[in-house]
Amino acid sequence: MQDRYNRQINYMRISVTDRCNLRCFYCRGVQDFAFIPHQEILSYEEILRLVRLALKLGIDRFRITGGEPLVRKGVEGLIAEINSLPGVTDLSLTTNGVLLNGYLEKLRAAGLKRLNISLDTLNPEKYRKITGGFDGLSLILANIQRALEMGFSPVKLNVVLLKGVNEDEVEDFVRLTFELPVHVRFIELMNFSPVEGYFLSALEIMEKIKKIGELQPLSVLGSGPARNYQIAGMKGSLGFITPLSNHFCGTCNRLRVSADGQLRTCLFSEKTYDLKKLLRGSATDSEILNFLKRALTEKPGSWQELEAKGRKNGLRSIGG
Ligand code: SAM
Repeated sequence: MQDRYNRQINYMRISVTDRCNLRCFYCRGVQDFAFIPHQEILSYEEILRLVRLALKLGIDRFRITGGEPLVRKGVEGLIAEINSLPGVTDLSLTTNGVLLNGYLEKLRAAGLKRLNISLDTLNPEKYRKITGGFDGLSLILANIQRALEMGFSPVKLNVVLLKGVNEDEVEDFVRLTFELPVHVRFIELMNFSPVEGYFLSALEIMEKIKKIGELQPLSVLGSGPARNYQIAGMKGSLGFITPLSNHFCGTCNRLRVSADGQLRTCLFSEKTYDLKKLLRGSATDSEILNFLKRALTEKPGSWQELEAKGRKNGLRSIGG
């Protein structure tokens, strides 16, 4: 599927739950909020039907996310089913890593090959503070190690840059990529966070890292938004994701589906398309395909077109 800006749309991120076992201050905020009622969450059968239809439109890359996807029971079954569909070229999972120890074998058996793990600090005390009180850094690090030993590849570590919180840890993360074959990606905090004042430019961090060693550009880590580099001797790599300071809308290839079946053609847009209504109603496959095609024709050219600045509903509810 090509959109009106000639972008090839081939990637769908599917959130399977809005629930999360962590409470990261910049994602979930400190206030309580209502979870989506269970009956509003897409069933695995509904998600699979959607994936089959998406494949017909040339969308062949899928990511399972949340909330925290591993808190939803049976997610490995969904992964195995998607993996077995002809035409799927890529399937990945984004997780905070907390539950991975009980899941790695099941995920491997389901055919999952690669993992994105979110980890914003290598300091146990900061980890506890960022995540709203979970004392689990050593568990996450052990899970990362185990995933590597089991052959998951690539294992990407997503580090959201937080001013005054983890900017002093950049060198530690760089060191980690010398020690382990992990791909650390520094991500700029996006403006729908419930907190303000924490934005830190990834380009600034990149300049800092250039003093450690020469960053050699890499092109082998896929077609995502990260710009990837290696310093000679690294086992892993470094990536920089700069949605705000250097936006990449011109090459955006993705669609997002929230846990309650709302399609978003742009992360920064408030506009949603109610897929659940169609999946649960009497819509035929071709009606749903037409609906998807129509939504795609409305995919914004860039986030600057939108007036979404200041949105405070957080990534958890959209699906990260
Ligand atoms: N629970 C899973 C996890 O932790 O990876 C998946 C969902 S989580 C919302 C996905 C990613 O979004 C995490 O890496 C999280 O740090 C990141 N995130 C949350 N809010 C963000 C924001 N305002 N800007 C940038 N990244 C954000």
